[in-house]
Amino acid sequence: EDVVNRIAAGEIVQRPANALKELIENSLDAKSTNIIITVKAGGLKYLQIQDNGTGIRSDNLDIVCERFTTSKLSQYEDLQEINTYGFRGEALASISHIAHLTILTKTAAAKCAYKASYEDGKLKGPIKACAGNNGTQITVEDLFYNVIARKKALRSPTEEYTHIMDVVGGYAIHNSHVGFTLKKFGEKTDLKTPINSTVVENVRIIHGNSIARELMEIEIKDDALKLSVHGFITNVNYSHKKGVMLLFINHRLVDSSSIRKAVDSVYSTYLPKNSHAFVYLSIELDPKNVDVNVHPTKHEVQFLYEEQIIEKLKACMEAKLLSCNS
Ligand code: ADP
Ligand code: MG
Repeated sequence: EDVVNRIAAGEIVQRPANALKELIENSLDAKSTNIIITVKAGGLKYLQIQDNGTGIRSDNLDIVCERFTTSKLSQYEDLQEINTYGFRGEALASISHIAHLTILTKTAAAKCAYKASYEDGKLKGPIKACAGNNGTQITVEDLFYNVIARKKALRSPTEEYTHIMDVVGGYAIHNSHVGFTLKKFGEKTDLKTPINSTVVENVRIIHGNSIARELMEIEIKDDALKLSVHGFITNVNYSHKKGVMLLFINHRLVDSSSIRKAVDSVYSTYLPKNSHAFVYLSIELDPKNVDVNVHPTKHEVQFLYEEQIIEKLKACMEAKLLSCNS
């Protein structure tokens, strides 16, 4: 059974950045305002996330890494929201099957912090009382130590680290009220955004002033489609070899090949060949209209009214690009 769980977990968590994304979302769900991430060897050796959120009550610590353990489905209606988030109660369980996982956590009401280690979804050893701040620190060590095939398929720690940078940068831009810090263990900080910053300021911090000063705001509201879009795009970005495309649907960093195609086609008309743009779009849809589970290993999303939504998006972006190119 453990082998099956391990294979399943390796499918969901394909690389350190996938695990980190789940952990960041947990920290955000726990209302954290400051999130500090520390990495060794591109997250393969060591990936730690420290937040200042609600913490986990000690009497829940024995079950948090069991499959389908979630504190986020209290009501039947919540089941309808399940699509927004995809898997429920599977992130910690999955990670515990393919890494050494340690949780150190303290709720505001608790007198002290508690520390627990996990293996294959179960507690490993006793829960220990210890000193600690309010919030949760999750440490993932030796990711894929027991999944040889996955380990072989991975790129270098350097490449894994760039994926981690992209995920942290994306969440920092989207959640500009939350402070994010990313560093390699024992080294200087690579990325740091302040608490209560703004999207534009965080783009400046992460992608530089030449992009930040070019940002044009995108805003769409459509009640009939139950759609709202907020974002920023640039006219052109010569300084990056690749463009930047950050897409959040209902606050999850996702990929959508149809939106990607639409964005590319808009730019192909307005930009010189081989130049690239910065695109950040936060799209909010009725959760009932979103299906994130098209393919568990991809972060590809499908949604209803796709054609209409894409038409709106293209029209809005074209108008912006036209206004600054004329
Ligand atoms: P889900 O997020 O779908 O509920 P997870 O496996 O990601 O499932 O997390 C399981 C549970 O562990 C969460 O529902 C939450 O109660 C708790 N948890 C995980 N991470 C944190 C955190 N950083 N702060 C507070 N609680 C957390
Ligand atoms: Mg989660």
